Amino acid sequence: MQDAKPDISDFVKAAPPDFKNPESCPALVLNADFRPLSYYPLSLWSWQDTLKAVFLDRVNIVSEYDTVVRSPSTDFILPSVVSLKTYVKPPRYPAFTRFNVFLRDGFSCQYCGAPQDLTFDHVIPRRAGGRTTWENVVAACSPCNLRKGGRLPKQAGMVPRNKPRQPTVYELHETGRRFPPNYCHESWQDYLYWDTELEP
Ligand SMILES: [Zn+2]
Repeated sequence: MQDAKPDISDFVKAAPPDFKNPESCPALVLNADFRPLSYYPLSLWSWQDTLKAVFLDRVNIVSEYDTVVRSPSTDFILPSVVSLKTYVKPPRYPAFTRFNVFLRDGFSCQYCGAPQDLTFDHVIPRRAGGRTTWENVVAACSPCNLRKGGRLPKQAGMVPRNKPRQPTVYELHETGRRFPPNYCHESWQDYLYWDTELEP
């Protein structure tokens, strides 16, 4: 995990996709209650998977792109938002992924607060029996990671600002609102951040 870099820059600064290209036209997938199936990562399906689900009658089309794909027999307008016909119970806890660890830690070093040059630190080093878990891995900048080396927090005098633990999906969602995706198709916006819009 040491070499991993966050993909926050891709996440924030990537250019808007070219919606004339079907490959840039994923559909936002909503649960049957019209909330995104997942926020992190955002539940998106390729246009191929989306059309497949439409043909299998598993989803309702909520909104469409202007983009059309043509087959020999017919034309298909690509859906931009679909909702599942059957409600899927969302997981209470998010997947343990690099991205979600960074997100939990607000894309900042848990020792000095730096937002750049982030990597991961095992609070209890692996060689001291520390495991790769929510409770033992934090975002750390490379300089802090180097400084701490293989030492225990007390030995190094470096204690994470927040005691690492497994967040709930809800907590990650709350943090994630500070880091919105770089680009949303306009038809997605009603389903993504409406709760922030309603706040005074
Ligand atoms: Zn640091």
